[in-house]
Amino acid sequence: MKNCIFCKIIAGEIPSVKLYEDELVYAFLDISPINFGHTLVIPKEHHTSVATVPETIAGRMFRVGSRLGVAMRRGLDCDGFNLHLSDGTVAGQVVMHAHLHVVPRWTDDGFHWNWRQLKYESDDARAEIAEKIRKHLKLDNQPGDAPAEEPEV
Ligand SMILES: [Zn+2]
Repeated sequence: MKNCIFCKIIAGEIPSVKLYEDELVYAFLDISPINFGHTLVIPKEHHTSVATVPETIAGRMFRVGSRLGVAMRRGLDCDGFNLHLSDGTVAGQVVMHAHLHVVPRWTDDGFHWNWRQLKYESDDARAEIAEKIRKHLKLDNQPGDAPAEEPEV
């Protein structure tokens, strides 16, 4: 897509430090890393949301992401890694081209997910939430799957 920074990176119009590329995905170092080695895996096709990325490509994103995590363990001697994906501005997505973060993690690296643990009011409340999601679960793409906030381009 024109004026998409990640599409420009794939096209070589914006420089990046590439770690991997094949016909489906492109992986490069994040320029503002959580930890050094933090990598982004992106589909070569432009998709705002991971929800509309075809299954073959989404599968490749996660395969490449997890293998990069193993490579980070071996090459950077990290103790683990996070795979993280933000879909939608409210979830923290900044570049509106779907991307999977691969973040190498070390013991005491000083980074913490602000992960809270809410409690459902009751079993019924929990079941009601599950049903609200379950009745809309469609595994093929539907109109309106991508976030409403398409970027201005
Ligand atoms: Zn793009």
